Amino acid sequence: MCLKIKRLQRYYFFIENHKFFDFERIFVYFCNLKLITKIHMNKQIDYILLPELAAKSDAKWKRFFRKNKKKLTGMDIQVHTLHNDISERIDCLACANCCKTLGPRITDKDVEKIAKALRTKTSVVMKLYLRVDEDNDLVFQSMPCPFLRIDNYCSIYESRPKACREYPHTDRKRFFQIYNLSIKNASTCPIVYEVLNQLTAP
Ligand code: SF4
Ligand code: SF4
Repeated sequence: MCLKIKRLQRYYFFIENHKFFDFERIFVYFCNLKLITKIHMNKQIDYILLPELAAKSDAKWKRFFRKNKKKLTGMDIQVHTLHNDISERIDCLACANCCKTLGPRITDKDVEKIAKALRTKTSVVMKLYLRVDEDNDLVFQSMPCPFLRIDNYCSIYESRPKACREYPHTDRKRFFQIYNLSIKNASTCPIVYEVLNQLTAP
């Protein structure tokens, strides 16, 4: 039995035998305290220092992967819960790191959608905004993304590429398959950074 559970049992026994304690209220208090600490912690994430913070945790995250490869295959629910919880508290509009630095892979369908949103031809979208990279993928000609507005809103939000809609992928099925990619993304995305940090916490 883990030490934490043993400790909890001891506290519970103590509280049970001291009727002046209201166990339920104490439990709620500690849950709230934990949540407040988490929120405070997230507010402390400095988007500029993120690459440095991620580099410091790199070895710990890789060690976790080596030791928990099998376990990770059944951890999607836990990862998705963390993703939802953390995404709610991180303001993408205050960050926009992905739109500033990462070049999403763009599909032919994306090009059609963008062209429709801009009321122009796909050939115009290709010429003005896209290029083929060294991996033969279609990407934006330069980053920050040409559709990123100064207030960090996406000017083609409803028609943005699939890769943009799915980023940072911490809510996708079979997360273990992109665990190592997520380690790279953690230096860009505070959501990924926090998911990995909380997932691998002792
Ligand atoms: S998805 Fe991540 S990197 Fe992109 S804006 Fe949101 S927090 Fe920033
Ligand atoms: S298309 Fe929109 S969501 Fe995608 S990178 Fe550009 S600004 Fe960001």
